Amino acid sequence: MTPKLDQSNISKAEQFLTSANRIVIFTHMAPDGDAMGSSLAMFLWIQKRINEHSLKTQNVHVITPNAFPAFLAWMPAAEQILIYENNAEKADAVIAEADLHICLDFNEPKRIGVVGDKLLQNPCPKILIDHHLNPADFATVTFSHPELSSTCELTYRFFNHLDTKIDLNIATCLYTGLMTDTGNFAFNSNNPDIYEMIAELVRIGIDKDAIYNAVFNQYSADRVRLMGYALYKKMQLFPEFHLALITLSDKELQQFNYKIGDTEGLVNMPLQISDVYYSVFMREQPPKPGTLHPVIKLSFRSQGDRPVNIFANEIFGGGGHKNASGGDFYGSLGQAVRRFLKAMPKYLLKE
Ligand code: 5GP
Ligand code: MN
Repeated sequence: MTPKLDQSNISKAEQFLTSANRIVIFTHMAPDGDAMGSSLAMFLWIQKRINEHSLKTQNVHVITPNAFPAFLAWMPAAEQILIYENNAEKADAVIAEADLHICLDFNEPKRIGVVGDKLLQNPCPKILIDHHLNPADFATVTFSHPELSSTCELTYRFFNHLDTKIDLNIATCLYTGLMTDTGNFAFNSNNPDIYEMIAELVRIGIDKDAIYNAVFNQYSADRVRLMGYALYKKMQLFPEFHLALITLSDKELQQFNYKIGDTEGLVNMPLQISDVYYSVFMREQPPKPGTLHPVIKLSFRSQGDRPVNIFANEIFGGGGHKNASGGDFYGSLGQAVRRFLKAMPKYLLKE
């Protein structure tokens, strides 16, 4: 069931929001629908609140550590996002001058890379709103609800405690994150209150079918072909472990003109196979300038009561949710695969 948000935290957050002059909203690296949805909803809601209350707040920024995928570029106010990687100098100044930081959809500063160091260097109050397990103790006010489907759901509940109402653009952002973080209501979505939230957003005027289309049906032909290639040529099955493994090298990605976000959702596809319960996807990123090793981005998915966050953390220093986790590996794709295959029998349920 839906938890009650802590009233004293709400009051503290409200005071910070009322007295802030410069606000920065942060969300995680490789922002997904929930990261974008919650931070853009917060951005739009704060601006509405500033107008309604004639607050003295001078500016509000959303900072993402790196670029967001093209399939989320249509989102209201997305064009106003300050992408750290593209404009670090300006972002550093904005972060340092802020008197309120709001962190959405990540549980520790490390999850936003170098931006996390900058955030910690400014001792201003911080509000954390998130649904990942085990939040680090870095915020002044923490709303941490891992039992909720999405940060967008939590943000919606936060807004409902305050007097500024959600408008159509805000509702559109919130629905996007709720939809993407539940795989269009295929998982983490048994709480009936979610459907009351959706009913309310539809009453406000969202076009949920259009949002689905904007997110899931606007891909490039290259991306769709890349998915086909990965499934046809690159998927390895380990039937005794109910496991599927896909790897894609940088060279393979370049053959399909890879753009950020192009492999989003690929890791879920092998779970469509009836007796596959675990899916692993490894994507090679070339070495950053000045570094020697590629970075392997790891994605782990599972079904039911088969946690992937434990081995994501213990083998690769990553983490995440029970059924959806990730991490980074510094080394070659082959090394990442070997490390995983060596450790895996200890962690995966043999059934
Ligand atoms: P994805 O496979 O979509 O990149 O990540 C799935 C989930 O795993 C994310 O929502 C996030 O919770 C978690 N995750 C991904 N990468 C990392 C990581 O490097 N560290 C931690 N702690 N969690 C991660
Ligand atoms: Mn999320």
